[in-house]
Amino acid sequence: MSSDFKNIKSSDTHPPLSDENTSHFKLNENSRIAVIGGGPSGSFFAYFLLNMAERVGLDLHVDVFESRDFDNPGPAGCNMCGGIISETLVQTLATEGIELPPNIVQRGVDSYFLHMDVGSVKIETPLQEMRIAAVYRARGPKGNTDLEWGSFDGYLLKLARYKGANLIDDRVVDVAWSNGRPEIKTRGGVVRSYDLLVVAVGVNSPTLKLFQDLDMGYKPPGTTKTYICEYYLGHDGVGSNLGSSMHTFLLKIPRLEFAAIIPKGSYATVCMLGYKIDKELVQSFLNDPAVKKIFPPDWDSDKGACQCSPRMNISPAKKPYAERMVFLGDCGVSRLYKDGIGAAYRTAKAAARTALFEGVSEEDFEDHFWPTCKSLKNDNAIGKLIFLIIGQLQKISLTRRAILRMVSKEQKKEGKKRRMSAVLWDMFTGSAPYKEVFFRTLHPLFLTSFLWSFAVEIWPFKKRTTIQEES
Ligand SMILES: Cc1cc2nc3c(=O)[nH]c(=O)nc-3n(C[C@H](O)[C@H](O)[C@H](O)COP(=O)(O)OP(=O)(O)OC[C@H]3O[C@@H](n4cnc5c(N)ncnc54)[C@H](O)[C@@H]3O)c2cc1C
Repeated sequence: MSSDFKNIKSSDTHPPLSDENTSHFKLNENSRIAVIGGGPSGSFFAYFLLNMAERVGLDLHVDVFESRDFDNPGPAGCNMCGGIISETLVQTLATEGIELPPNIVQRGVDSYFLHMDVGSVKIETPLQEMRIAAVYRARGPKGNTDLEWGSFDGYLLKLARYKGANLIDDRVVDVAWSNGRPEIKTRGGVVRSYDLLVVAVGVNSPTLKLFQDLDMGYKPPGTTKTYICEYYLGHDGVGSNLGSSMHTFLLKIPRLEFAAIIPKGSYATVCMLGYKIDKELVQSFLNDPAVKKIFPPDWDSDKGACQCSPRMNISPAKKPYAERMVFLGDCGVSRLYKDGIGAAYRTAKAAARTALFEGVSEEDFEDHFWPTCKSLKNDNAIGKLIFLIIGQLQKISLTRRAILRMVSKEQKKEGKKRRMSAVLWDMFTGSAPYKEVFFRTLHPLFLTSFLWSFAVEIWPFKKRTTIQEES
């Protein structure tokens, strides 16, 4: 089937057929839409499309193809991620009427610990009422028997189903065009034709290869390998060791860019980002004293409940749209290193609005969907620059001490502007666009404070900064 498709030249894919098949086609009563992938971007799309359609009195048929059962714990139900839902997304979803239920939110995270070789400091949320949610994408890690907890992805998919989406528990294995309309084939061998095809398959599935060779200008995003491991500490153990804080690390370990330990129900999730992550790099991190002090004395780093090495989107896909086709979330454009689920929400909603109110042609997506992707893409370019600068500063012990001094002073002063704390908070949580964070670092008062902390650290008669705050 795909061979038929792959042999068709670009011009043949948009034949001047009946009105139904012209490029200016708009969704109408009983239009058929396929969504490949029931992760956050696929579920958000189905939910918003059906929600908006209901408001304008349009009856649409939406099939979501997803073979993963999110009610399973461990790899069978998991879309592999740190599980931090940024405070901005928590708030935005609430304004959309989507409140994350208590059995989905494993912990409300209200502070960050920044750990460096020169010491650790706690950073409180800049706005007291804001909270980050720590969730599991499946029903907890492998072996989890605490069925009180639910899956975040499962919850979103249920929302889409309540709105009327039809879940097809099958994998899509082939894509083709038939009479100017996208057609898909599932592992079960069934072939179905649609008015619009929404691709929301993430970056950890071979499915993207189906689109790669097609003559429509789409090029999959750039990715990097990451590492995640779950450790069972028990509910009280997580509380006493990690508290309600996410623990982030800026350590001088070669090839390690960033690492975090996130408190969940009875588990601690270790997430690592770096260059060519391998066993050696993982071991150097887990054996670092700054990491060991967070875990109980009898903790065995070899006894993780489950681990994985998923790929992460680090550069945007090229042209994530075509005639009657759109690519959302990770397989399209995401946010660099942070808030991928927030990006899935934004791209899914922009695509749903475009499909319903503008049309499903390549031009429609270019004019009304692509601007959302472009703003993420441009912001990521600034993010790359900030991470490059942080990477360089991280290498200098004096700078690490100056950062630590500035943050710990700010945290002790109630009611004062906490400039460095806010910058770090937004960098770690992804709560603000990178552009906003960057401009804040150029503020004269930020620079003066930082240079002052730097000068104090150079001053030969002062006490050395080794700040240690208890969790
Ligand atoms: C180490 C790591 C940590 C991360 N931490 C965070 C974090 O803390 N917070 C955050 O916001 N983001 C985080 N992310 C990013 C986040 O995981 C992604 O941005 C998000 O999952 C993207 O959602 P998606 O729906 O586009 O793709 P996915 O979540 O990958 O979902 C794709 C879905 O498509 C399905 N699928 C694939 N192929 C087919 C097929 N052929 N047929 C049917 N179904 C198919 C899959 O089963 C899957 O359910 C992290 C990523 C990594 C790698």
